[in-house]
Amino acid sequence: MDAAEFRRRGKEMVDYVADYLENIEKRQVYPDVEPGYLRSMIPTEAPLEPELYEDVIKDVERVIMPGVTHWHSPYFYAYFPAATSFPAMLADMLCGAIGCIGFSWAASPACTELETVMLDWLGKMLQLPEDFIAGTHGHGGGVIQGTASEATLVALLAARCKAVRLAQASDPARTEAEIFSKLVAYTSDQAHSSVERAGLIGGVRMRKVPTDSKYAVKGETLKNMVEEDKKAGLIPFFFCATLGTTPSCAFDHITELGPICNANKIWMHIDAAYAGSAFICPEFRPLLNGVEFADSFNFNPHKWLLVNFDCSTLWVKKRSDIIGAFKMDPLYLKHENQESGRGFFFFFDRLRFRSLKMWFVFRLYGLTGLQAHIRKQVGLAKEFESLVKADKRFEICADVIMGLVCFRLQGSNELNKALLKKINDAKQIHLVPCQLSGSFVLRFAICARTTESRHVQEAWQHITQLTFELLQEPCH
Ligand SMILES: *Cc1c(COP(=O)(O)O)cnc(C)c1O
Repeated sequence: MDAAEFRRRGKEMVDYVADYLENIEKRQVYPDVEPGYLRSMIPTEAPLEPELYEDVIKDVERVIMPGVTHWHSPYFYAYFPAATSFPAMLADMLCGAIGCIGFSWAASPACTELETVMLDWLGKMLQLPEDFIAGTHGHGGGVIQGTASEATLVALLAARCKAVRLAQASDPARTEAEIFSKLVAYTSDQAHSSVERAGLIGGVRMRKVPTDSKYAVKGETLKNMVEEDKKAGLIPFFFCATLGTTPSCAFDHITELGPICNANKIWMHIDAAYAGSAFICPEFRPLLNGVEFADSFNFNPHKWLLVNFDCSTLWVKKRSDIIGAFKMDPLYLKHENQESGRGFFFFFDRLRFRSLKMWFVFRLYGLTGLQAHIRKQVGLAKEFESLVKADKRFEICADVIMGLVCFRLQGSNELNKALLKKINDAKQIHLVPCQLSGSFVLRFAICARTTESRHVQEAWQHITQLTFELLQEPCH
């Protein structure tokens, strides 16, 4: 493909994408295919000779689309949103064109510099404490990671490194292996599975802190566990707080937890993967109070802030903590302006020019446009909540604070499993469940950017129709 053909095909692709997104409601949100469907539809070997573009693009509709779950359909209410916007998609094209690998300042100065400034812009939108802002002289700052899971792992490994240094400072005879065996990390029993996995990868104990009636961790509970572990000779070193848990969007009490962590030299990382985006709205910002006690903070603009995957933003108060933990210094990465990136190259994976997406989105939406998006989606969740509340057969299972509604039919878990199965088998809308206090609960998350009130109303009508049918069935 030469540049002339690229021009033509590129314009066609933009049309295909715009048509796809404009007409996405007409596609069934969840596919009909069975596992292994694709293998039989394409050859078993890559082609020896080049094929025609027309044939490739034809196969997109034949092979790919039948197996796509349409995350951007306004009938998609599963998991959490995956952000997408036209400005971000355009920026991604440009990112592909520049195609740099941004592992050092010299490898593409704009890539390093824009990322640092975008993280400052976003940090200021969230009103993060000054400590987290790089500016020109700060000790903190942010970088883009691929996922919240990676961010948690990076924070845990940095904390582990710091804990070893600290333990050896007071007793130089202690070996790293012996210290590792004593380290203990904590997180909520509602935390995302990636937090537990970070503990596994880091080779440290991870204790689950029980949550209160609102599914949040209280200071007192953590304090007791830390004291107990210290008495047993263990070294508490890391706590991952969650703001906006995955099952029910609960918020740990970080104003209580922060001082406990600080007093015990426990690194506090905050995982706000979903809810973090909402902190750009003044009415939600109080939920982030206590971030001043944290060592690191992360959320996913690729969930709720209109920046396409992947874009998970991680801030630290002390860049040196992270740099120290991962420092590698091969000769081929040395260059005259090595200090200009201020050491940020040592993070795991700052590779593609992902900050372009943020720059385009922030400039083309403005803060007010982004706030409007969050508020609209929260409004739709509240609308769904009131529909559920008005139907006595149902109950709301957790406070609706942002764009997620947890609800269930009053009755057995079996009944609710049957309802969810009916909903997902019908494939008109798509939901996933969660478990709260032993109950099987349905999660209704406002996901697609284009979801409107009529879609939510339609979804509820559909759910009540299926409920009516379910309750007619003799076994219930
Ligand atoms: C979605 C989610 C994650 C995982 O995010 P990834 O970017 O997919 O790793 C982590 N924590 C919470 C609270 C989440 O909601």
